[in-house]
Amino acid sequence: MLKDLKLFSELVEYLISEEKNNPVATPIDTTSLYETLDLSLNDDPIIDEDFTKTLKDIIKSTPKTASTSFFNQLFGGRIDRATLGDLLAVMLNNSMYTYKVAGPQVGIEKIILKTICEMIDYPETADGTFAPGGSMSNYMAVLMARDNYNPKARNEGVTNKMTLYTSQASHYSIAKNASFIGVGRNQVRAIKTNDKGEMLATDLDQQISKDIEQGYQPFFVNATAGTTVLGAFDNVIQISKICKKHDVWLHLDGAYCGAVIFSDDYKHLVKGIEHTNSFSVNAHKMLGTPLGCSIIVTRDKKHLYQSFSNEAEYLYQTNDDDFNLGKTSLQCGRRNDALKLWTLWKSVGNKGLKTIVNHQFNMANVARNYINQHPDYTLYSFDNSISVCFNYKNIPANKLCTGLYENAELMVGFGNFKNQEFVRMVTINSLLQEKDIINFFTRIEKFASSSDF
Ligand SMILES: *Cc1c(COP(=O)(O)O)cnc(C)c1O
Repeated sequence: MLKDLKLFSELVEYLISEEKNNPVATPIDTTSLYETLDLSLNDDPIIDEDFTKTLKDIIKSTPKTASTSFFNQLFGGRIDRATLGDLLAVMLNNSMYTYKVAGPQVGIEKIILKTICEMIDYPETADGTFAPGGSMSNYMAVLMARDNYNPKARNEGVTNKMTLYTSQASHYSIAKNASFIGVGRNQVRAIKTNDKGEMLATDLDQQISKDIEQGYQPFFVNATAGTTVLGAFDNVIQISKICKKHDVWLHLDGAYCGAVIFSDDYKHLVKGIEHTNSFSVNAHKMLGTPLGCSIIVTRDKKHLYQSFSNEAEYLYQTNDDDFNLGKTSLQCGRRNDALKLWTLWKSVGNKGLKTIVNHQFNMANVARNYINQHPDYTLYSFDNSISVCFNYKNIPANKLCTGLYENAELMVGFGNFKNQEFVRMVTINSLLQEKDIINFFTRIEKFASSSDF
């Protein structure tokens, strides 16, 4: 192992120098990928020297998500203490299903969940688990809601006409999950949004009432803290009143921006969160841990047991349910995703997590100010969003983004809202500084002036 750890150090050093010197890897066209890199698997082992060289070639061509030129997705950067925790989790290689096999790692996971439940003012009965990503957290939420509404569904399947509600701007996993839980995609009602991309509570109320009249059974509403394109926050207070009125489960999908709960300055964006039935947040987005680190909590842990527990004599042989986390999780064998968040949180404290969150909003303000001060840009996004959406000089956003990528200038994507396409720059890497943000725009301007659009 020590030999490979040495190799690992060498490779990481190489990666870090590449991130600096070539922050956007030159993309290899998919048609020549297998000719450009030695990815083939053969009868004979590769010799050590070639192995190292091949790995370096692969590293060189792999997109650099931790570089200062990466604005493409809802994650980015590398916070050392979180990465350390994840590397350690790989070396320890526990499976989180039992206390016998994971020991104190179970305590680490439990204390994170408990602290988050307290932070959002959930009752004592609350608990949660780590899921393999935000889509799966949403899946767990809607499954708990299904079994809460219809406890027979778990054994008999879904036979009634159950409907669920989410805004037009919400994440696509809601529709997928409706299919997974046997309710079906056609039973998903896409609720209209206002111009900022926030769900219209009045439209939600009307749609639920209409469905009840027509014999449907509304059971689940998904609200979003940070919509995927505009980064909008649905109004939890208004929506929760409608859910109470119709006795429907309310989930808050905070995969993108639910981490505002860690900042007194931005927690107001999820005001009313204590009225939700479940809440999910991806630490691998705003908190900057490595992928994946997704958390789902619910007001009452009985829902976790009701939907996810299973007896298994071959697995559960010691300790009580409270410390055998397999009884409340989606998977059987499960990776330790908690340790990386714990090493980060322990290192920087609540104060440090708040700084990480606030910095992203500050950098988004820097970006919006720049756009507002330069008449060649059109801004489409609003305050309190870390998705900065804009167009430059009427250049089609998809052409600009693709050109920047193909020429190894910048990694940034495009999105659209109400038939308007635009560049979506995400300031989620909390290690970026003001100069990196300004640099982003000057790179676009230089590139645009040297290409013919
Ligand atoms: C990213 C995201 C998800 C999905 O999370 P994954 O970890 O990528 O599965 C769900 N909802 C929202 C709002 C997101 O931004």
